[in-house]
Amino acid sequence: MEKIILITGGGRGIGAACALLAARQGYTVCISYIADEAAATQVVADIERGGGKALAIQADVSDEVDVERLFAQMDKQLGRLHALINNAGILFPQMRVERMDAVRINRLLATNVTGSFLCAREAVRRMSTRHGGPGGGIVNISSRAAVLGSPGEYVDYAASKAALDALTIGLSKEVANEKIRVNGVRPGLIHTAIHASGGEPGRVSRLQSSVPMARGGEPLEVANAALWLLSDEASYTTGSFIDVSGGR
Ligand code: NDP
Repeated sequence: MEKIILITGGGRGIGAACALLAARQGYTVCISYIADEAAATQVVADIERGGGKALAIQADVSDEVDVERLFAQMDKQLGRLHALINNAGILFPQMRVERMDAVRINRLLATNVTGSFLCAREAVRRMSTRHGGPGGGIVNISSRAAVLGSPGEYVDYAASKAALDALTIGLSKEVANEKIRVNGVRPGLIHTAIHASGGEPGRVSRLQSSVPMARGGEPLEVANAALWLLSDEASYTTGSFIDVSGGR
């Protein structure tokens, strides 16, 4: 049976690694992006070149109308959703809490928290046996920041990921008897462009000596954990977290 997966922010970084791995595992892949159409188009082309099926849709996950349009377009062009990876996430330039304003904090929470809630809501409406669906899986891409707190860098980001972890725990229990499993992955320092948004492209290199494994991680190492949580091998695993952080 054809299995359809949606990966938000699937055009770059960890999301792109999830998309390419999911395609190799036989999923039909839908990725969303907010601005980088070229990167998303490239991921679709790479999947199609490998014989897979993929679709890229522009949508801002923090915008409820956009999220509803994203899911409606996916329903129409691909069919019923089986798996969601809530991956889209942002952070802003490093600063202490005493310098943060409400505009920054609310923009960050709108994408990392509200966006994940909205996508989870749409997924549950399609997957839950309560709504006549066949079940499915959701993986939320959190961060080790949820536990470490990111002092001096972005406590707002860390707090958004802690909220995402609470969504994972609460929603997993809410839908556990409706054939939906909900889990989280907490990446550590992973080599992607997100660190440039924080004003420090070389952040992974600076901090890698604090990682017990003494290196940063690769997006594929995060994707492997996310796709395992969605697989039948994780059939009794829900409300759980995998830290992909080299021991940090
Ligand atoms: P990138 O910056 O490389 O990619 C982020 C992706 O999210 C992009 O594809 C971007 O779209 C998309 N995106 C951002 N805002 C929105 C929005 N409002 N609506 C839709 N899509 C959006 O980041 P990473 O790959 O590093 O991060 C992926 C996830 O992993 C994030 O949730 C991040 O917090 C988490 N993470 C990353 C870590 C790391 O060290 N890299 C560590 C811990 C967690 P577009 O391509 O169009 O810009």
